[in-house]
Amino acid sequence: MTLIEVQKKYNTQAKCLKLLEKLRWGKTVKCSYCGSTKTKRQKAEKNRHTCKNCKRSFSVLVDTIFEDTRLPLPKWFIVIAMMLNSKSGISAKEIQRNIGGSYKTSYYVAMRIRIGMLINNTKLGGMIEMDESYFGGKARKRQKSEDSQANISTTSLKRGRGTNKVSVAGMVQRKGMVKTKLIEKLTRRNLLHMLKTYAKQENSILITDGFRSYKDLESYIDRLEINHSKSFSKGIVHVNTIEGFWSYVKNGIKGSYKSISKKYLPFYLVEYEWKFNNRNYRGNEFEKYLKNALKQEKELEYWKAKDGKKVKEIAYN
Ligand SMILES: [Zn+2]
Repeated sequence: MTLIEVQKKYNTQAKCLKLLEKLRWGKTVKCSYCGSTKTKRQKAEKNRHTCKNCKRSFSVLVDTIFEDTRLPLPKWFIVIAMMLNSKSGISAKEIQRNIGGSYKTSYYVAMRIRIGMLINNTKLGGMIEMDESYFGGKARKRQKSEDSQANISTTSLKRGRGTNKVSVAGMVQRKGMVKTKLIEKLTRRNLLHMLKTYAKQENSILITDGFRSYKDLESYIDRLEINHSKSFSKGIVHVNTIEGFWSYVKNGIKGSYKSISKKYLPFYLVEYEWKFNNRNYRGNEFEKYLKNALKQEKELEYWKAKDGKKVKEIAYN
C-alpha cells in the first residue's frame, strides 16, 4: 500500500483498531489474558472488551508491539508504511520530520515496528548458503600466533575473522528466505545450533567457504565448499546470494543509519531480513506485516536478556 492509501483508509483510531482486530482475531474476539472466547464488547468504549471468564478488560493492543503507546494508531500506520516502502531503511530523524513529535518517540516506534518484522518458524531447505559477516569496529592488531592461524586463508583476513568486530552468521535458501543471527563466537557448536534451528536436514545441501567451523557441520548436513582463494564460484557452488545480502545490509546501514550499537544491531537485521524476504511479495504487504507484528512480543527476546548493559556506539564503515 502506498503512504497515501494508508493515510486515507486508516485516518482514525477506530478504523485502525478495526483492522487490527480483524487481523488478530478474525470474527471471534479472544481474551488477551486467558485465551477465552467468551467476551463482550464494552458499550462505553467500543474498542475494549470484557472477558466473561477472567473478568478482565482488554483491547486488541494488549501483548503486542502497540501496547501502552500514546502515539495515535494512524501515526503508527504511517510510520509502518514508510518503513515498509523504504528500500534500504529510514532513520528516526526522518520519521520525526514526517510525523512530528519528539525524536525519542520516533526512535521508539521504529524499534517496535522492527520487532514486528521478526519472522518466526523460518525453515530453510534445498540449496542453502551459509556465511558470516562482520559489523563495525576496527580490525584489532594481530598477535603473531593469530597471524599464523589466519594465514590458512587470506580471505578470512580480509573479511575480518579474528577481529573485534561483531560477527553475524547468515543463511539463505536459494530463491528463498534469509535468516541471520548475531553470534559472538563462530564455533561449530554455535553454528550447528543455528543450522538445526533454521534449516531442514533432509534433502538440503549447505554451501559454505572453507572456514573450519563450517567443515565441522558436515556430520549433520551435506555440504559443498567453495575455495575462495582459487575462485568465487564453481557453477552452482557459490555463496553469492548471502554475500549480496550482506552488502545490501551494509549499504543500507551506511546510507540510512550511519552507526548502530552492537546492542541494537539485531533489530536492524530483522528489518533487512523482512525486506529481503518480501522482495518479491505481490500481495498486501501492509496487512501481512500487521498480521505478523500482532504475533510478536513487544521486546526482542535475545535483546531483553542483555538489557542494562552499556554498549558503546560503533561506526559502520
Ligand atoms: Zn480472560
